[in-house]
Amino acid sequence: MSHDTQWYATPGAQPRLLLVDDHQLNIRVMYEIFRHEFDVFIALNGEQALEKCAELHPDLILLDVVMPRLDGFEVCRRLKADPELAAIPVIFITSHFDEADEVRGFELGAVDFIHKPVNPIITKARVKTQLQLKQQADLLRAISQIDGLTGIANRRRFDQQLELEWRSCCRANEPLSLLMLDIDYFKQYNDEFGHLAGDECLRRVAMAMQQAIGRPYDLLARFGGEEFAVLLPRTNSHGAQFLAQNILLKIQHLALPHPYSPGGIVTLSAGLATVVPQEHTQARQLLQRADEMLYKAKQQGRNRLLVDESLI
Ligand SMILES: [Mg+2]
Repeated sequence: MSHDTQWYATPGAQPRLLLVDDHQLNIRVMYEIFRHEFDVFIALNGEQALEKCAELHPDLILLDVVMPRLDGFEVCRRLKADPELAAIPVIFITSHFDEADEVRGFELGAVDFIHKPVNPIITKARVKTQLQLKQQADLLRAISQIDGLTGIANRRRFDQQLELEWRSCCRANEPLSLLMLDIDYFKQYNDEFGHLAGDECLRRVAMAMQQAIGRPYDLLARFGGEEFAVLLPRTNSHGAQFLAQNILLKIQHLALPHPYSPGGIVTLSAGLATVVPQEHTQARQLLQRADEMLYKAKQQGRNRLLVDESLI
């Protein structure tokens, strides 16, 4: 499973609501309240609730406190301990007001309490308030991970993803490839055409690179300035080289005029490194190797890919 941004609300789609209660009647009442405005899912016990959360990534959970075996508090505790599910807001449903219970619920990370019998108007209003907050938080999180100029992932997102994929490939004993790319003679391009044209060049190169990358779990990021990085999990050096050559060709086919480049068009230099991550190694080493290869590609005349073989 990829560690992508799958807990974000899908823009334009109906919010997904998970109702958890061990009494069918309670479920039915709440289902009637929400069914017109939400995609409603149901769980009849704590175990089911956790399964549905992992599978559906709902936007909000209405969670009964008193259930046999796994009660609502325990379900909430487990959700908040899972980094992929922790952002889902939980509203507890209780049959009576108990201050100590509510304190405990809020300490576990719940956002609100609703008392049975549920009042449709109050319940709907509270759910909508929490969903609005979540959508704003999702948006902020998404914006903070996107490069404003090119629309691809930014350095912060790249760093997070590199750590995640490093651990994931380490557990699975699978190769992780990293491609670093840099636009050749970009300073001269800016000097010749101005910074607005330089920005447009970055955008077009980023767009073409994104098109060359087919798989949803490969991550293209702007690493900084005119430098880009492509993270390729579960990809060996051979597969990564194939993709890298495709990217270089794609940029050549754009044929963006560049008078100070030997071929007269914008080209890329690239460095590639691949490793099967181990417990005692660090993601930083992969980054250093790919960056060194990029540096050498520049030294050897640019417009080429250099591959590091030492880590394989
Ligand atoms: Mg109950």
